[in-house]
Amino acid sequence: MQQSMSEKRSAVSRIIRQIQARGERVTIQRRLVIEALCDSNDHKTVGQIQQYIQHEHGEHDFSEATIYRILQWLKALDLVAQTDMGAVGIVYALVPDRPHHHLVCLTCGATIKLEDDYFCALRERVRKDFGFAARIDHMAVYGQCRACSEQTSSLPSSS
Ligand SMILES: [Zn+2]
Ligand SMILES: [Zn+2]
Repeated sequence: MQQSMSEKRSAVSRIIRQIQARGERVTIQRRLVIEALCDSNDHKTVGQIQQYIQHEHGEHDFSEATIYRILQWLKALDLVAQTDMGAVGIVYALVPDRPHHHLVCLTCGATIKLEDDYFCALRERVRKDFGFAARIDHMAVYGQCRACSEQTSSLPSSS
């Protein structure tokens, strides 16, 4: 699905309004990182965010360390989730109204998107038993995909 310029712009301003409502300042650098995350609603590594900014806004060039600091700030504001996707690396994504998660195959790197329903019961139970509000906003669950486990189980046993 192609995302239009205006969709991206309105997503960026929606987030900026949320940030300003909390009394935080939005610098040009912070704005560009937010824009990179709104671009095609994708999950990006720090390197991919840097590439996006260089590509779209060549006049602004800032280091991975700066981008990382801004991402940590967005994370503290509950606007961005940080997830270790295994081989892909650590990705950052905007926290959507409806969370989703990923199954990540450690053998082939395949990822499968997981609806939030799977975690609703867990969240409820943890809250009931511990009074703990678990922040399960973007989980990566590691393991082996069907194709890889079928391949492993069909291998001749070495013993
Ligand atoms: Zn995701
Ligand atoms: Zn696999």
